[in-house]
Amino acid sequence: MRRVLAWLRGDLRLADNPLVRFASPAESLLCVYVLDDAWLEDCAGLGPRIGAARLRFLWESLIALRGELLGRGSDLLVLVGDPVAEVAALVERHAIDQLRVRRDAGWEEGRAVARLAERLGSGVELWQPDSGTLLDEDDLPLPLASLPPSFSAFRRRVTRDATLPASWPAPVTLPPWPEDAPRGLPALHRISPAAADWTADARGDFCFAGGEAAGLARLDHYLWQSGAVASYKQTRNALMGSDFSTRLAPWLAHGCLSARQVHDAVRAWQATHGASDSSEWVIVELLWRDYFHWAARQEGAALYGRQRLPPVDDAFLHWCRGRTGVPLIDSAMRELFATGWLSNRARQNAASFLIFELGGDWRLGAAWFERCLVDYDAASNWGNWRYVAGVGRDRRGHRFDIPWQARRYDPEGDYVARWQPSLASQPVAQPHRLRCADVQRFPPSPGGKVPPVDP
Ligand SMILES: Cc1cc2nc3c(=O)[nH]c(=O)nc-3n(C[C@H](O)[C@H](O)[C@H](O)COP(=O)(O)OP(=O)(O)OC[C@H]3O[C@@H](n4cnc5c(N)ncnc54)[C@H](O)[C@@H]3O)c2cc1C
Repeated sequence: MRRVLAWLRGDLRLADNPLVRFASPAESLLCVYVLDDAWLEDCAGLGPRIGAARLRFLWESLIALRGELLGRGSDLLVLVGDPVAEVAALVERHAIDQLRVRRDAGWEEGRAVARLAERLGSGVELWQPDSGTLLDEDDLPLPLASLPPSFSAFRRRVTRDATLPASWPAPVTLPPWPEDAPRGLPALHRISPAAADWTADARGDFCFAGGEAAGLARLDHYLWQSGAVASYKQTRNALMGSDFSTRLAPWLAHGCLSARQVHDAVRAWQATHGASDSSEWVIVELLWRDYFHWAARQEGAALYGRQRLPPVDDAFLHWCRGRTGVPLIDSAMRELFATGWLSNRARQNAASFLIFELGGDWRLGAAWFERCLVDYDAASNWGNWRYVAGVGRDRRGHRFDIPWQARRYDPEGDYVARWQPSLASQPVAQPHRLRCADVQRFPPSPGGKVPPVDP
């Protein structure tokens, strides 16, 4: 019988997780998560790559996962260090026969597995299934190399030609833990006091808690308890409130939920309530997520741009801190920093402003989002930034008319008043007028659009 090591990364759940699924018995199973210590170091002067909000959510997810594993006769080991070195040492020390790790979209993650495979040689079987997406690569209706340049074309092909596999339930029992293997996880305050003490600003309307059960509870709330899914298509562009969108992204990004679980739950809801544009649109958004995942796999290192990051300048730092002088943008950036989350509409506006009005390098914006977002996902984050900038597969670029967006999505100025109380006393719509002094500091280019940096 095999001695198996499951190297968990963005797949912190038991249901619909091929890494903990066994068609035939195994002698033992060692589940390990390694927090890359490089993520805790400063990146480009922006702070650690993993900010407090995400690190806390990650730890909550790991604690919850350990509970689920213990209940099934297994356990979890969490280490902090170089993932390749740590996993290689475990494989060697515990005479592992089979190493399981999902195929990630991120280039760095792929490189790490390649380095590990090289180090271990052919004596250890490496199994790399797809996991977490709606479709596996084998289910795609076209070869990955022929991925269409536009999402619409991808969606048409998938809708016409692909069958989405169903999700699997969690296993009831798991192979035993190797007798001599270490177990457990370090206390978060020893790794990052800031993350251990992190609480989201209550103005964000929502408090995310990591873990599979919390993700399933949110899914249940959004579909069955509140029924908010019935109006998703009308509400999804809002800026404030807890139920205008699913808020499932953090659980999907950490793999506490798989996209297939969400898909199956929406289909079950539709079987009772009938299909509608709104419930169907949730699935369209999950397809966007898949599209960025497959695009990232195709693009490799190019996803992050080919040149070194430029140094940060004052304009960029003002953008990060919500001090550009443009109320909608400043409110969005303050919300992001204070809560770790931002609506899709606010993300688009903030990205467009940095790229097209400030002429900033989109990669710095993506790096700042990586640090701040609780739902950071390499493919979705860098893919969306490239999409807005028009430097990815879709070369059109998406520049937003910020004053128009502000009037359309924050007509009463409530959003701005929430995040910039000093503007609250001004008459309705006044908060969206650009304040002259600030605009002069960051003037939009005279002819309109600043061409995006395409490194
Ligand atoms: C500049 C920028 C950066 C982004 N960075 C990330 C990121 O790091 N991680 C991330 O998950 N999403 C990212 N997004 C996509 C999107 O903004 C978030 O997925 C969404 O706002 C999360 O809220 P929700 O779960 O309520 O989404 P909903 O609107 O309820 O959508 C349901 C699910 O569909 C997926 N989804 C929706 N829109 C997109 C999209 N445009 N691209 C990919 N997947 C999507 C998400 O998994 C989401 O949870 C980014 C968008 C922009 C414009």
